[in-house]
This record gives sequence, C-alpha cells and structure tokens, in this order.
Amino acid sequence: MVVEDVAGGDVPVAAVGSTGVRALEPLLVATHDGESAFVTNADVSDVEAAVSSLSDGGLPDGADARVSHGDAPTSLPAPDLDGFAGDRAALARCGWIDPRDPEAYDAAVGFSDADADAVLDAAADLHGRGWGDWSQDEPLGGLWAGVRERDDPAVVVVNAHGNPGDALLLEGDPFAVLDGANAAARAVGADAVFVYASEGDEAAAASARAAADAGDFDVPVEVVEGPAVYRAAEPTMAIEAIEGNHRLEARLRPPGPEVEGVYGDPTVVHTARTYAHLVGALAGASSDSRVVSVTGDVETPTTVELGEAATVADAVDAAGVGEYTAACVGGKFGGLTRDLDVALAPDALSANDLGTEGVVEVLGADECPVAFVGRRANVASETNCGRCVPCREGTTQLTEKLRDVYDGTYDEAGIEELSRVMASTSICAFGRDVPRTVRTAMDEFDDAFEAHAAGDCPTGACTGEL
Ligand code: SF4
Repeated sequence: MVVEDVAGGDVPVAAVGSTGVRALEPLLVATHDGESAFVTNADVSDVEAAVSSLSDGGLPDGADARVSHGDAPTSLPAPDLDGFAGDRAALARCGWIDPRDPEAYDAAVGFSDADADAVLDAAADLHGRGWGDWSQDEPLGGLWAGVRERDDPAVVVVNAHGNPGDALLLEGDPFAVLDGANAAARAVGADAVFVYASEGDEAAAASARAAADAGDFDVPVEVVEGPAVYRAAEPTMAIEAIEGNHRLEARLRPPGPEVEGVYGDPTVVHTARTYAHLVGALAGASSDSRVVSVTGDVETPTTVELGEAATVADAVDAAGVGEYTAACVGGKFGGLTRDLDVALAPDALSANDLGTEGVVEVLGADECPVAFVGRRANVASETNCGRCVPCREGTTQLTEKLRDVYDGTYDEAGIEELSRVMASTSICAFGRDVPRTVRTAMDEFDDAFEAHAAGDCPTGACTGEL
C-alpha cells in the first residue's frame, strides 16, 4: 500500500476510505497549518512529494485545489472540485477519518451517550432513506415508539445491501453507522445489532466487521452478507438472510418487522444512510440532505450529497455527466424521465412518479428507452422471489408485452392495466416498483413505443431486434 511505503517519519500518513467521487481517486489530501491541498489521481511520487513538503513545513506544489479551514477539522474540508457540490452531512467524514480507528471517530464526533428519550426525540422527525428502509420516506419516531413499548427485546438491523451510498458509508465511516445503530438500540430497547451487506460489497462488509470488533458498543454487533441481487435489499428479505435462510422470499405483512422481525423479535430496519443522518440529528444538525449515487452511462459512478432543494440535474452535473437521453431515477425500478429538473425532496420525486432510493441511472445519448425498459422488466421476471402471483406472473407478462412491441403489437391499455394490478397487489416494494419504470417510460417516450411498433427505433439502437 502506498501510504505504508512512505509512512514512518514525522509526518503521519493514513489510508482512508473513498469520498464517493471516485473519478478523482486516488485522492491525496495534505493538511498543514489550517489549509489542505488536494491532489487528484495521485500516485506514489505524489505521496512522497507531499510528505517531503509537509516535513519542510509547507503544502505540496501543483495541487488541484486548496481549502483554508480552522485547525483540525473534523470532516473533509470539501474542495472546489467536481463531485463536492453541496453540503456533505452524512458523508462528511468519508475520505477524511481513518475508518479503522474508533478514536478518530470519537475525536471527530464523539460516540453518542444520549439516553433513550433523547434518541427518540432526535429520530422523531428524521425520515428513512432508501427502499431497504422499513421507514422509507417516513419519520422513524412513531415506529420506534411502538417497538419500545413492546415487552420483547428488540433487534436493530443496518440494511446496507446494494446501495452505493450505504456501502460507501460502511467502508469510509463505519463507526458513524454503528454509533447511530447503537443509539437506536438504546432507544427501542434492543439487545442486538445486525449489519447486513451485499456479498458484492466486500470492502464495506470487511470495514463493518473491523469496526464491530474495534468499537465498544452497548450491544453485540454482527455483520451478515446476503446475495448480490437487487431484491435481497427488501427489508423482510434482509431479515430472512440474517436468519440464515438461503432462499430469500419476502414475508407476508402484517405483521411487519416492527412486530415480528429477526427470530420473531420486534425489529427496526433502516439503511446505513438513515443511521448516519441520525448521528447528525443527535448532534443537532439538520437532516435535509440526500445521498445520491449517479450510475449507468457515466465515466465513473459517483456518490454525492446535496440538499433536498437541489435537483436530480444538480446531482448528474456534480457527477460530470454531459449528454444523456434520460435517467432512471430512484433505483433499478425507478421512474424514467428526461426532465431532471426535479428536487431531490421525496415528495417532489414522488409527485413526478420518480423513486427516492438515492440512485440515478443515466441513459446515454444513444441508449433506447424502449430497450432499456424491456431489459429491466426481464430482470424483474428473472430475479423476483416468486412469492406472490402479481409480481411473479406480472413481470413475465410485462416482459412479453414489451417484446410484442417489437412485433408490431403495442398493447398500451393492457400494459397499463397489468402495471396497475402489480403496483397495487404485489406483496413487497420490488413488485410494486417494477411497473413504475414501464409506466414512466411509456408516458415520456410514447412516440418511441409507437415507432418501435411500426418497425423503427428512433435511436437506431434496436435495428437488429426489429
Ligand atoms: S413482489 Fe416480487 S419480490 Fe416481492 S414478494 Fe412478490 S414475487 Fe417476491
């Protein structure tokens, strides 16, 4: 590792996690006398030069950005570089503090010792984040109060499965996530915390395990990995995975996890983002920011954090995306739109039939929206859990109806009716969300669907299939 090669002198050098702006990484930050210099895409010689400059009492020459700040900032002094727009609250320490060192977190934030009532107060108005959160877009307070009132000991689950922002937090600031979960355990009377990550996010799981071992928490913390498939983030499937079940199916509800969760105990399930925002709320900070990961047809996937009044376009801009046909906003089964001038606040996203998952997938300039939505429906038909008929059969029929478009039959009313039934009767959010991608694509790109039915793909991308 680069830092170990050059460490050992008077200048402390530490490897930290990602900032989320991966196009700039490896990112070198040299800090001295109230100022930090940022060197992007750094290599060994940059690290050596920075150590040499710091040994001589200065910052390295030729940095890509410099930021003046007070002594010993507790969070990354965000530079004027693409990707660092807006206020970083949940992501504040990602790329700044050593994720292996509990003392670094304690010095920066201080592990919370707030009592149960104080935590409940802080959580009262905090809204959940992400489709893997049982309080998705709803305040935590009421749910937690109900769990607390039950006689059984409760369980706290950190659902960090599959979302790039959650994985980033586990990787770069795991003590914040665990600190938030530990505070939640106090608030609801839990005697166990489970961190649930995807097998595909090895760094996140390893970082969470190291933090669970190194931290001094009130209750035991265990890290469990689940299969790297989208559906596995669904809160009740997360509980199934934590219990060791290999065939992941959503649970019927009611009762929900808050009544019968892990091993039958009342359980709160929130994403890593939600617990990171709780840490901010416990410190009295506002929680009206959103962690958004920009993926798809982008040079490098980027995770940014912006205020709720910022727009989807701002997030895409911050990720350095220039041209696009549309974006799928809100996760794998988000809404498709070419108008990105929509605020990141959940009510604004929902009003525009977009999702609030915190993932924006960009469709490049030559990507066909009809082909995109057909592939997405096919993924849904192949990866749903099979538990309920509306989703299991509906996704198959939806895929067939979208294939029929290529054969000249665009059954618009039939697709709409099927979508309506799936959205209203599927057991879990997976099946309820799939129709959104199809519905919004038909609204936004109706002319493209008609053109395909007439044997033409306006982008030229589907020539071979028509
Ligand atoms: S909606 Fe789909 S993923 Fe959810 S329970 Fe039904 S079949 Fe399974």
